[in-house]
Amino acid sequence: MKLYSTNNKELRVPFKEAVFNSLPADKGLYMPEHIPVLDPEFISNLGKYTLPEIAFQVARTILNGAIPDNDLQAIVNDAINFEAPLVEISDRVNVLELFHGPSLAFKDFGARFMSRVMSYFLEAGEKQLDVLVATSGDTGGAVALGFLGVPNVRVTILYPKGKVSPIQELQLTTNGQNIRAIEIDGTFDDCQALVKRAFNDPELKEKFRLTSANSINISRLIPQTFYYFNAYAQLLRRGFKEVVFSVPSGNFGNIGAGLLAWKMGLPVKQFLAATNVNDTVPAFLRTGVYQAKPSVQTWSNAMDVGDPSNWVRIMDMFGGDRDELQKVLTAYSYNDEETLEAIKQVHTENGYIMCPHTAIAWLALKQWKNDHQADEAAGVFLSTAHPCKFPDIFPEEIGAEIVIPAQVKELEGRDRLAVSLGKDFESFKSFLLAG
Ligand SMILES: *Cc1c(COP(=O)(O)O)cnc(C)c1O
Repeated sequence: MKLYSTNNKELRVPFKEAVFNSLPADKGLYMPEHIPVLDPEFISNLGKYTLPEIAFQVARTILNGAIPDNDLQAIVNDAINFEAPLVEISDRVNVLELFHGPSLAFKDFGARFMSRVMSYFLEAGEKQLDVLVATSGDTGGAVALGFLGVPNVRVTILYPKGKVSPIQELQLTTNGQNIRAIEIDGTFDDCQALVKRAFNDPELKEKFRLTSANSINISRLIPQTFYYFNAYAQLLRRGFKEVVFSVPSGNFGNIGAGLLAWKMGLPVKQFLAATNVNDTVPAFLRTGVYQAKPSVQTWSNAMDVGDPSNWVRIMDMFGGDRDELQKVLTAYSYNDEETLEAIKQVHTENGYIMCPHTAIAWLALKQWKNDHQADEAAGVFLSTAHPCKFPDIFPEEIGAEIVIPAQVKELEGRDRLAVSLGKDFESFKSFLLAG
């Protein structure tokens, strides 16, 4: 497998290089030079396979020899060791629960696969890899738990003090081993600025082998295709052949992976990109003008993104043609009040509790179904996180019904191991140099 940069199609790098660099030097994004199509036999027989079996076939097809089959099989089995069930909540409305991994968010798929791929490519005697990651909550937990105990890798997570939920903080700070957590007296943007500066600091670059683990890494995108195929497998078993996916979108990595799955031959009727009021993409599809905006804070805060970093990948897959893109992608945006109403409605009518991000995808699916009443396709909205990660937004009576999964309960008794720092770069740099 070779990858080019979206800014320079002449460039070709092997998969290993794309994984360790995350970004090409020209600040484009890595894309596979060729998107292979899966055997149609395999697609029509998807219903016969398990999630790890599907994941392995999809991965070996796209990686095209970059990792030998035996090793890839081991990576997939170790990384994708939890379920992604499709739950029917009403007629032709299904929720794809992607929150059954260790951090209770879909980012576990990407983070666990990436960590194992990085570890696989680190050769004996190579310098320790230092992963620096800034998080507003979900990314940090997935990356911390993904890399926990992975040899020859150390992870340093920066998170904004007082701005992550109690469960997120437990997931970030109770790990120990090769995971360090730093609580920054500032905002998520301050955390991100510190990480960016560290990557450009000559002394730090000399002393450490720094890498980022953010959502633009190609090894996070690939494993997110697996659950689209697996959702379709579950629909086939229930007698459905047509599907519409609604995806809660912030940086557009999740839906980008869905579109990649479609390019690889997954028959999808329509993708719905569901955003909160950070509506850069819905506005672009409407007007043809892509206008990045400063992000606005909402209850679905993992989607508070004004300039989605994976958008160039999506445009690249469609050769920059908005009309072509609009044949498969429709976008919708909703505000906090609508989000809360949706949570209440689905709780009342279907007895199901959704996190705020998931609620936005449900709203988009409802709207699409309303506009296409004769359509027989099965609707699938993706649930990107367990509701217990966002306790503040639920009315008390709904909050009281949320069952906290065992893997989180178990963290409650553990010591909190975060270091506190200000938002100045010098303190952060001294911390890194000392360790
Ligand atoms: C990260 C995240 C999203 C947004 O996913 P993108 O791939 O950035 O579009 C949505 N919901 C939750 C819960 C998340 O953590």
